[in-house]
Amino acid sequence: MNKSIFRPNILALKPYSSARSEYQGQAICYLDANENPYENRVNRYPDPLQMELRTIVSQIKKTDASNLFIGNGSDEAIDLLIRATCNPGVDEIIVTDPSYGMYSVSAAINQVKVKKVPLNIDFNLNSNEILKNVDDNTKLILLCSPNNPTGNELERKEILHIINNFQGLVIVDEAYIEFSSQPSLLSELSKYPNLVILQTLSKAYGMAGLRIGFAFASNIIIDVLNSIKPPYNVSVVAQDMAVQLLRSQSENLTKQVKEIINERKKLTDFLVLNEHVIKVFPSDANFILVRFKQSEIIFNYLTKMGIIVRNRSKELNCEGCLRFTVGTPAENMQLMNALLKYN
Ligand SMILES: *Cc1c(COP(=O)(O)O)cnc(C)c1O
Repeated sequence: MNKSIFRPNILALKPYSSARSEYQGQAICYLDANENPYENRVNRYPDPLQMELRTIVSQIKKTDASNLFIGNGSDEAIDLLIRATCNPGVDEIIVTDPSYGMYSVSAAINQVKVKKVPLNIDFNLNSNEILKNVDDNTKLILLCSPNNPTGNELERKEILHIINNFQGLVIVDEAYIEFSSQPSLLSELSKYPNLVILQTLSKAYGMAGLRIGFAFASNIIIDVLNSIKPPYNVSVVAQDMAVQLLRSQSENLTKQVKEIINERKKLTDFLVLNEHVIKVFPSDANFILVRFKQSEIIFNYLTKMGIIVRNRSKELNCEGCLRFTVGTPAENMQLMNALLKYN
């Protein structure tokens, strides 16, 4: 990867140096940051580089801490990656259609053009179609696997073909990887200097409320992200609670993920046989995309029954589709009962 992928102003940037980053040892008194000195557990600023959290995450993910960026949700990493590479009004990104809506929103906020390249009708990735759309101003290609809202894993061979034939950064968003039958690309990260992998604590890890997401990449990329992020982007409360939950929760999580995958199968088997359903798309995630004969009516009916699902019928090739998150067995039962009762 060539450093010129980054905007010149970003490469020239002298980052803000916070009080907490200039002094990292154990001191007797901290009179450097204009904090209130009286202890209440949050009177001090958080560690800007999240060393404790970064250490435990890199152990869990079997990567080096220097290859890990921690953001205020992976949404922050998406925004920073666009800002680090794309000159407003000049550069552009490529996303698949359909995919996660935040990519386009983040690009629009940064005045960056988005080329949407359709997935195949079965929502598989066509790498040549993506590569055909690359031009001199294309800085990023964003792929989501398993893809939101369709739920399918993108084919590894197609992803690698893009990584190997594109000069800019390829971002693979693995927000749902824990639910997938395919392994993460993370173990191959060192082979691909232009690859960025996004993961999050918001889905399988059960910490959406903490707002913590990860970018894994070569240390050149990670250093740039850390130099442009707001210095205290992850709060003391979020860092501490994430460390605590990551230490205590791991067996629970494995069980929960297994149960969610079981429930996904149960729900799928039910939906396939339901008279209102046209098609159930295969899912590698914790949600299922389902095409209904009359999706608007079903959506309104479920809402009236107090069951909130996502209407995705306006997305490309998703006509008539609703997206169901897999809930607890009791919640899924309520959904199934409601659909059985409807006629
Ligand atoms: C939910 C989701 C995320 C998670 O974003 P956070 O900011 O980490 O909560 C990222 N990408 C996709 C595709 C998602 O669906």
